[in-house]
Amino acid sequence: MRLHTALHLLSCVVSAPVSGGNIAPDRARLDFDIDMALLEAQRITHDTNALIASAVATETVWITEEELEARPQLVKTMSVQPPRGAGRVRLVKIPGIDLQPCGGTHVGNIAEIGGIRVTRIRNEGKRNKRVEIVLAA
Ligand SMILES: [Zn+2]
Repeated sequence: MRLHTALHLLSCVVSAPVSGGNIAPDRARLDFDIDMALLEAQRITHDTNALIASAVATETVWITEEELEARPQLVKTMSVQPPRGAGRVRLVKIPGIDLQPCGGTHVGNIAEIGGIRVTRIRNEGKRNKRVEIVLAA
């Protein structure tokens, strides 16, 4: 839950389309369609922890599928589209930071994440630059 919510923050710190992701018990990663030269582990760690320190409460927002169609920029993950057919779509809002469709479970306040550290950045292909994080605390 803490790592998952941290990935929302990571997707905001790195401003590039998300091309993949995974969560393991002790670490998590996102892949970005971005130039390797734009990824700097120390900066990403610092900026993500600065967001965590802002201690914002997460919210759940529901919109209709029509509203989502009208705002395609809400979907950050290129390969994963939110499920359609139920008439409405669940968004997770981290006010002032992030808003995107997500059916996952999140911390109530991003301060609960505690802190993260980027452990590795790897080139996994033209459209996959992999940023791996662990919880710092
Ligand atoms: Zn989520």
